[in-house]
Amino acid sequence: MFDVIIIGAGVSGVSCALILGSAKERPYALNKKIGIITHQKASSLQTAVFNNAYGIPAGKLGSELLEESLAHLSSTYPQVEQIEKEKVISIEDDKTFYKIITNKNVFESKIVVVAIGAGNPMTIEGLEDFVVPHQKVPAIKNRIQLKNNDHLVKDGLYVAGVLAGHRSQLSIAAGSGAAVATDILSLWNDGNHTMVHDAINK
Ligand SMILES: Cc1cc2nc3c(=O)[nH]c(=O)nc-3n(C[C@H](O)[C@H](O)[C@H](O)COP(=O)(O)OP(=O)(O)OC[C@H]3O[C@@H](n4cnc5c(N)ncnc54)[C@H](O)[C@@H]3O)c2cc1C
Repeated sequence: MFDVIIIGAGVSGVSCALILGSAKERPYALNKKIGIITHQKASSLQTAVFNNAYGIPAGKLGSELLEESLAHLSSTYPQVEQIEKEKVISIEDDKTFYKIITNKNVFESKIVVVAIGAGNPMTIEGLEDFVVPHQKVPAIKNRIQLKNNDHLVKDGLYVAGVLAGHRSQLSIAAGSGAAVATDILSLWNDGNHTMVHDAINK
């Protein structure tokens, strides 16, 4: 049983995983089992090039980011389990946990973060009830989002990135994934707001 599974290892998903991973020594996060499903074939990042994203050198290719971000995650926070080359087919709500069914396995998790981008149609069964037209992307682009309240779709189910209804910019998607991570950490911390900061003088 995972405590959290993140579906999608693009900008918002990996950003969420990095911040969850960074809390590894906090008492409320000790022994939490965190996973991220890193199927990358459908990633829109494959054809992107970035000149306008904070902290990212101009000219950085999305295809490079896909590899480098997962290398960063595995070297800095190896306790976050990367589940490679599996595509999620459906999610089932079992009331106290979720079943995540991929083309190869079935996983169980108390919390799920869906971070798969806003492509239409929705490719994961079990989320249909929450799908609406995207509210902040031009209608001509035919994008979708999940209905949510500050990223929370329903108990234990979060959405991050463009699928949460944000405009499609790397920095916004990264911030959305980070916001979800700090909400989950605050939940684990008995509802007390939390952030994870490192500093050179500590
Ligand atoms: C061509 C192009 C150029 C861009 N240029 C810029 C730019 O210059 N500046 C800028 O700020 N932004 C740019 N963007 C936008 C930016 O890339 C997106 O806003 C950002 O990637 C969205 O992040 P996300 O996490 O919502 O989705 P993504 O980063 O797309 O991540 C979604 C992930 O989910 C995975 N996935 C999908 N379905 C499944 C499934 N069923 N199971 C498991 N995994 C799944 C995908 O493989 C992917 O890895 C560009 C986008 C494109 C396409």
